[in-house]
Amino acid sequence: MTEHMYIPTRLVIGRGCVKEYAKELSGFGAKALLVTGKSSAEKSGALADMKEALRKGGISWEIFNEVEANPTLETCVKGGQLAKKCGADFVIAIGGGSPMDAAKAIAVFATNEIAPMDIFKADFKTQPLPLICVPLTAGTGSEVTPYSILTVHEIKNKQSFAHPANFSRLAFLDPEYLKSMTRETLLDTVADALSHAIESILCKRSTKVSEVYAEAALRRLSSVIPGVIAGKPDYEMLLLASSLAGMAISHTGTVIVHSMGYMLTYYKDVPHGRANALLLPGFIRLCEKHVPDALQKVLDATGKENAEALCDMVKGLTAQPCSLSFDEAAEFASKAIKAKNVSQNLWALTEAEEADIFAAL
Ligand code: NAP
Ligand code: FE
Repeated sequence: MTEHMYIPTRLVIGRGCVKEYAKELSGFGAKALLVTGKSSAEKSGALADMKEALRKGGISWEIFNEVEANPTLETCVKGGQLAKKCGADFVIAIGGGSPMDAAKAIAVFATNEIAPMDIFKADFKTQPLPLICVPLTAGTGSEVTPYSILTVHEIKNKQSFAHPANFSRLAFLDPEYLKSMTRETLLDTVADALSHAIESILCKRSTKVSEVYAEAALRRLSSVIPGVIAGKPDYEMLLLASSLAGMAISHTGTVIVHSMGYMLTYYKDVPHGRANALLLPGFIRLCEKHVPDALQKVLDATGKENAEALCDMVKGLTAQPCSLSFDEAAEFASKAIKAKNVSQNLWALTEAEEADIFAAL
């Protein structure tokens, strides 16, 4: 069987990397659109470093700081209009997964006259603007994935599009920027990275190569999660692990934990990573029942003796509980079972199994 892996992002890693590698920005153009959330780019210090680097390179910029958590399609259309109006040559995302995913869509809308919903067809006449990412959370791995996940009120859910041009050309990974995260955001986003690595292994698309990335992420995450829970996070290791998990899902995608989690995020306002943390134990227990050999790979990489020990690690990252009524559990399961990635699950998942996971929250 043949395998392939494609991750065309140049990664620059370490403290002070934006300033040290400022020269990497030249060649992208004379005008940048900086895409951020409300305040994390400032709080983390990343925006100040980036402005200094742009100034040095004689590059001017415009800021679009309207990206909300779980960005909406409308926000991305608005960002695309600003990119066009200001004549941006490239886009720089500074933020967690939300600004990074929004920036991918903004880069498309900046160069393509398409109806908003057509972005999900991922068939673009013109190449999107080039993208640079500065992640401020260690969670999504969006800096190394071809995915953009957007909130779409028209379908009352989140929807994603994938395209090779969505990969960032350049990503600056500076662990200093993660220090301004709240404890809740830290726990939520670490749970997301963990979920990516676990789902990547427990998925039909998993290959020998994607497994290398996922297992490397799991080894690092399991060694640093006790420190995260104890309030002494190793930000450098977390950032590396999150990117490794991102590289794994770049190839495999995620599976049902993510598609079920979108229900909790859309309808119950649960942050993305926390939704995964809440659903993972139910998923892990079903994997133990249906695909124990595949689950053993996850247990080996995390050094956990059994499924319950793995669930305990996940529970330590669950910042707050969420419970659903019987009717909500049934309704969410009936929607989530229709997600595309259900076909990538390792066994023939039933709607009743999904409803049981939701009901057990
Ligand atoms: P996020 O939504 O980007 O940020 C969550 C909150 O944390 C925001 O209030 C943000 O503030 C704040 N924050 C982030 N970093 C901070 C920092 N360093 N200092 C202070 N505050 C900080 O969270 P995320 O979990 O990283 O991203 C979630 C999104 O990524 C979801 O939409 C999810 O679907 C998507 N995702 C994408 C992929 C992919 O492959 N593309 C994979 C998984 C998940 P601001 O509002 O000020 O920024
Ligand atoms: Fe995720």
